Amino acid sequence: MATFGTLSDRLTETFRNLRTKGKLSAADVDQTVREIRRALLDADVALVVVKEFTAKVRERALGDEVNRALNPAQQVVQIVNEELVGILGGEQRRLQFAKNPPTVIMLAGLQGSGKTTFAGKLAKQLEKDGHTPILVACDLQRPNAVNQLQVVAERAGAAVFAPEPGNGVGDPVRVARDGVEYARRQQHDIVIIDTAGRLGVDAELMKQAADIRKATDPDEVLFVIDAMVGQDAVNTAKAFQEGVDFTGVVLSKLDGDARGGAALSVASVTQRPIIFASTGEGLEDLEPFYPDRMASRILD
Ligand code: GDP
Repeated sequence: MATFGTLSDRLTETFRNLRTKGKLSAADVDQTVREIRRALLDADVALVVVKEFTAKVRERALGDEVNRALNPAQQVVQIVNEELVGILGGEQRRLQFAKNPPTVIMLAGLQGSGKTTFAGKLAKQLEKDGHTPILVACDLQRPNAVNQLQVVAERAGAAVFAPEPGNGVGDPVRVARDGVEYARRQQHDIVIIDTAGRLGVDAELMKQAADIRKATDPDEVLFVIDAMVGQDAVNTAKAFQEGVDFTGVVLSKLDGDARGGAALSVASVTQRPIIFASTGEGLEDLEPFYPDRMASRILD
């Protein structure tokens, strides 16, 4: 997979140089840390995250665990791996389901981040697992958004709850609330709420998303972010965390030539787990996010 390519290549090179060393001097450690720093910055990891990460690696690399290690260089690689896994959330985190269905899953993110596509992918995967999801169309901002969700739902074979056409613009908070009620009555065990997103962070839409959250009390609020956004990831994620808050992250478009910095930045800055990786335009292209696998991929 091309993902993290640049980051991996750079770190692989760094570690190859390191592996030829026996005992490490402070200068070796500093050199290695400088190269890790450069690789992370080149992969668009946010500067605050890079600083914190390299400071931790440096401190541990100069400490006893490396000094006493049989193979100090390998120990440093191990430390980098551990710290990466730590930032990426440690254990793989699964979706949380409600004790009393329906489980409500709300999606938030910028326009074009991949929310609607993800809604279809998730519905399809959940159906495969025996669930009966329904998609609720609360993006009433763009004229075509409801229709787009209907198309995705049809491809996924999932039900949709949407405002009647011709009923005016409608109130997304009310649609969300009615959608959850409808799901309960029709015994859909999972409700996936698609919300509106602007190209930039927008106070009014953020309030709308917060109101939808309040009205539906979701079990999960998933923030969908395009892995290609690079340095902007941190500010966008922070704005959504402050505006709506979210319980987990979906990293989309990981199939592209994303340099992968977004994953590290968002996980580190928001302290929220990345739950899914979206890896293509097809409805099958959805994977759980495994922090340890991602860390190895970065280092390989
Ligand atoms: P929304 O505005 O957040 O609902 O975003 P959409 O779901 O409409 O996605 C925007 C565009 O990105 C569409 O053209 C999708 O086909 C595309 N897209 C969504 N997810 C992925 C993905 O994982 N990989 C790729 N390559 N394209 C994606």
